[in-house]
Amino acid sequence: MLHRFSIRHLLSIVLRMAVGLFLLPAVADAKTPQACAPGVTLKLSAPVSSQGSLLLLEVRSRKPLSEVTAEWNSKNVPFWQAANAQSDSKAAAIDLRQAILGVDLEKPPGTYPVLIHVQTSSGKPASCAIQIPIRAGKFATEKLQVGKEFVEPSPEQIQRANEERDKLRAIFDQVTPEKLWAGDFRVPLDGVTTGGNFGKRRILNGQPGSPHGGVDFPAVTGTPVHAAQQGKVALAQELFFSGNTVVVDHGLGIYTFYAHLSEIDVKPGDELQSGQVLGKVGATGRVTGPHLHWGLTVERARVNPLQLVKPLGNESERPIASEAANPE
Ligand SMILES: [Zn+2]
Repeated sequence: MLHRFSIRHLLSIVLRMAVGLFLLPAVADAKTPQACAPGVTLKLSAPVSSQGSLLLLEVRSRKPLSEVTAEWNSKNVPFWQAANAQSDSKAAAIDLRQAILGVDLEKPPGTYPVLIHVQTSSGKPASCAIQIPIRAGKFATEKLQVGKEFVEPSPEQIQRANEERDKLRAIFDQVTPEKLWAGDFRVPLDGVTTGGNFGKRRILNGQPGSPHGGVDFPAVTGTPVHAAQQGKVALAQELFFSGNTVVVDHGLGIYTFYAHLSEIDVKPGDELQSGQVLGKVGATGRVTGPHLHWGLTVERARVNPLQLVKPLGNESERPIASEAANPE
């Protein structure tokens, strides 16, 4: 018996090694901490993600970290320090760094690495990778027949819309190095907990349009719209598609976007408190009725903003993203 068991045990080890050549073992254990360097562990809020989702990445070190960098989606990921390794409180000392990874709603499904480089004040630099499987989001498809003029804007309108798109992309590309928010994010309307249409694919007169990059909240014109968290106004103006629009920079590459407002109550450069009124619900731009369109980008990735309305920041033990969190 012992002999047979040993052979089976050996076989299973050989098999696991063979599988390991093709599948990094980190995939199965991304949610549980894994070592990156002596005394330095990594953790992701979920082992698997999907289009339009957020992940929280944590680096914990028993010794103060002199450097932490990560690369995701060909971009440098900004970290913030959630806990400080105090040299005088030896037992519980920890240096905890956190970062948010955004998965764009059109990122092709597959497995992608996040590459992490760490260095402790007294150790050698180390590099490690976590493989993150990204699944397709479950987004509804809507087929609409509409008047030709709604699908084919004039050359002047196309030019205007393109210029505005480029302006928005330039804003979303800027990463303010400070974390401007503190605490949880909130839904921008009072008394509302959920909205719809995120990621919805639209086929207009048989032509696939771009997917819906935010969440819609139907509401009465004039309803106050609140900033989802502290931040700085990066844009406050009328745009072709989104009408009266406000963009708030929360720092570390995180921006929230508020569209179709009847009224804008802030100007670029204003520093907003969490919950401060920035405008009123309206029906400006291309809409069929009054509603708030709320968007979120994380280093250019378009993500479901409802995923932010969960503990972030110091609540390191509570996951901010999981498959169950996707509302589709
Ligand atoms: Zn919308």
